[in-house]
Amino acid sequence: MSSPHMGGGEQQFVNEAFSSNWIAPLGPNVNGFEQDIASYLGGHMHVAALSSGTAAIHLGLILLGVGPGDEVICQSFTFSASANPICYLGAKPVFVDSEPETWNMSPEWLEAAIKDRMAKGKKPKAIIPVHLYGMPARIKEIQAVADKYDIPVLEDAAEALGSSVDGQMCGTFGRFSALSFNGNKIITTSGGGALVSVDEGAIKKATFLATQARDNAPHYQHSHIGYNYRLSNVCAGIGRGQMQVLQDRVNRRREIFAAYKSVFAGKPGISMSEELPGYFSNRWLTTILVDSDIAGVTREDLRLALEQNNIESRPLWKPMHQQPIFENYPYYGDCVADKLFMQGLCLPSGSNLTENDFERIISVINEVLG
Ligand SMILES: *Cc1c(COP(=O)(O)O)cnc(C)c1O
Repeated sequence: MSSPHMGGGEQQFVNEAFSSNWIAPLGPNVNGFEQDIASYLGGHMHVAALSSGTAAIHLGLILLGVGPGDEVICQSFTFSASANPICYLGAKPVFVDSEPETWNMSPEWLEAAIKDRMAKGKKPKAIIPVHLYGMPARIKEIQAVADKYDIPVLEDAAEALGSSVDGQMCGTFGRFSALSFNGNKIITTSGGGALVSVDEGAIKKATFLATQARDNAPHYQHSHIGYNYRLSNVCAGIGRGQMQVLQDRVNRRREIFAAYKSVFAGKPGISMSEELPGYFSNRWLTTILVDSDIAGVTREDLRLALEQNNIESRPLWKPMHQQPIFENYPYYGDCVADKLFMQGLCLPSGSNLTENDFERIISVINEVLG
């Protein structure tokens, strides 16, 4: 559906790591990769390269002071890695529904949740909105609600590197933002992530915590609990090469989206998410909704037909408030995410998809939808 797509430059950075013997979770590629990301995001950001996006969310929550017994608001419609770190800290997730246009956190339900949690005696410690499939959330409206109640935002931009709102890059909106370079993301380091902030001191602290929280001493001295969350210099070399082709990857993903869109234009009952004015999606994955009443087939009919032809597709994320591990936590919403899960399908969207692959996919789709 979305496989790694190397650009060519990666090998050289990895070779440099080998020839200089920087085979460690530090080195010139790590520093260079952080600078590449910072300048891509606009230059004023500070970046800590980490072993995963999940680690970035975990450290972000730690730096926001989240601890046992706290509540953290999280978008329900997401991958579980948005919510798991809340539980690592002994805190409690409070899930908020999506709104139907961006499919991301509803600012209205967010405010309803904050009011109700405060009425019940606890003010949430942080808010985690997500830009799913690359589509920016209504991040300015979410930020306005967060500001009104003075609650910090931790932006999960794992799927949205290259997306923007009114020219401002996703990954620069939150007090902290998390990026992921897992194998299926728009660019990859095989596994990796980053924590981003305008706050240089906070990013220094994140780097410190990510390298076992070693105090400044000749011996090993610790006054904080540390983590082994730094990105390897070898992986960062892959990341440096991938940053050289990031814009090509975004362009290609958007091209694939547009190609699907023209196919589905003539198919009643199939809809796709539209960019709001000023919104720019990296179109990490092309996703569709299948309204079976109109289309005459279900999402599953289409998915199984693709599977029979050895083509991978997948239902949209199953909302967190429906997951067995999270179903007893509070949820605020109107089942928008549930409907997206029931009707939605992610289609093969890798930037290395060939014309031939695409023709095969379309012929199965045409067969099913007529
Ligand atoms: C991939 C992803 C993460 C986690 O990133 P990893 O690098 O895989 O740990 C978090 N949130 C979302 C929305 C993701 O898609």
